[in-house]
Amino acid sequence: MPTRPQQPQNRTGKKTKTHKVLRVQVFSEEDICGICGGVVDFSLPGTDDWGPTLGHLESVRERPDLEFVRSNLELQHSRCNKKQGA
Ligand SMILES: [Zn+2]
Repeated sequence: MPTRPQQPQNRTGKKTKTHKVLRVQVFSEEDICGICGGVVDFSLPGTDDWGPTLGHLESVRERPDLEFVRSNLELQHSRCNKKQGA
């Protein structure tokens, strides 16, 4: 009996999940804001100015292909992210 090759499930249209996974990964790996260099307080909600948010090194508008690439993501303060307009 031939064994079936294991194929990864194609999860197209699951951007939200990918984003969530990367968010958790970045938040667990970094604790410094990529813009101002200050420590990010994870006890604050993402809606707070000084709360953690996921930022992009290359803006998604210019590089939509890098939106979910780990190397293009970094931890940022919510307010720094807004200031930068990314
Ligand atoms: Zn900052």
